Amino acid sequence: MTANLLDFDLEGLAAFCERLGHKRFRAVQLFRWIHQKGVARFEDMTDLARDLRERLPAVARIQGLPVLTEQASADGTIKWLFDVGDGNAVEAVYIPEDDRGTLCVSSQAGCAVGCRFCSTGHQGFSRNLTTGEIIAQLWYAEHELRRRLGTGERVISNVVMMGMGEPLQNYGALVPALRVMLDDHGYGLSRRRVTVSTSGVVPMMDRLAQDCPVALAVSLHAPNDALRDRLVPLNRKYPLHELLDACLRYLPAAPRDFITFEYCMLDGINDTPQHGQELIALLRGHAGRGVPCKVNLIPFNPFPESGLQRSPRAAVKAFADRLNAAGLVTTIRKTRGDDIDAACGQLAGDVLDRTRVGERLARRGDDLAVVRVHRPVRAAEGSA
Ligand code: SF4
Repeated sequence: MTANLLDFDLEGLAAFCERLGHKRFRAVQLFRWIHQKGVARFEDMTDLARDLRERLPAVARIQGLPVLTEQASADGTIKWLFDVGDGNAVEAVYIPEDDRGTLCVSSQAGCAVGCRFCSTGHQGFSRNLTTGEIIAQLWYAEHELRRRLGTGERVISNVVMMGMGEPLQNYGALVPALRVMLDDHGYGLSRRRVTVSTSGVVPMMDRLAQDCPVALAVSLHAPNDALRDRLVPLNRKYPLHELLDACLRYLPAAPRDFITFEYCMLDGINDTPQHGQELIALLRGHAGRGVPCKVNLIPFNPFPESGLQRSPRAAVKAFADRLNAAGLVTTIRKTRGDDIDAACGQLAGDVLDRTRVGERLARRGDDLAVVRVHRPVRAAEGSA
């Protein structure tokens, strides 16, 4: 089996080239052809030494992911479904804005964490993606968009590891992929523009701070352990005080001086004034000094199996106002790609569940009812 060169960061590619008897600068040339120019055929890499160009096809390949489907939203958002084999597929979403182009990238086929409000979590877990499969999403999107727009300029300015999967449970593949994104010979993204989102894998947060500190987003979703245990099951292993301690340890290495906390607004579950007060006390009071942070409220995108409803727009606004008034910088995420199920928590791909997460979630549906404050279900809430 030949090596897929998308699996290598620059150091890995340099080691590969050395094994073929070529110096590091050849690896830099190769890396730039692949990632900066989007070239997949060795014969097109005109400034590579001829003997290397001729040798490579026998030992290496540049293999992206087949695109199964593409959906374009009226708001410009594009969602691709990529085939990762064995009946599994993962999604990546491109979100254009005036001042940036963001790609939301998947790290696993499915997810084992099984968050209550997450469509991916309901699919169960099949397997980790390789570094090459993570990078292939960016490689394809960047060069395909450049081709369509007729530009040689960079189109994707930001990457968020917020697609399918818990990236820190696929750490070994994640870190080389991040390095390719950051490398000046690769995509040249600044650390501030690459965000890893985690549900709170505490030991791996500490390792990321040492190995490749990029911007960090934490899926919080609840202001106390009792509720978070039910919404984000990983909380039972790493409860809130451990998670917030890890955030404080991460900050000195982080490219930004704050952590982003994601908070999915669930009607009657975590969106009451009391929840707001509790959240303020938690984030401003932790360890006696609080956690420097921004809070991002995400209007929930309902899907049938969840049994949950989106918080009314007025409740989201009141929650944001309460947090802002208490000095916590809080924004409400604009929902994008609603019409193509590309919004947060809606990425479902197509996953062969080898974990029976679906069954566990179905059982857990009952205990969540215990904490749910029932409100009448409203007809179609608009997006925030
Ligand atoms: S929110 Fe993230 S960690 Fe939780 S189930 Fe979904 S993909 Fe996994």
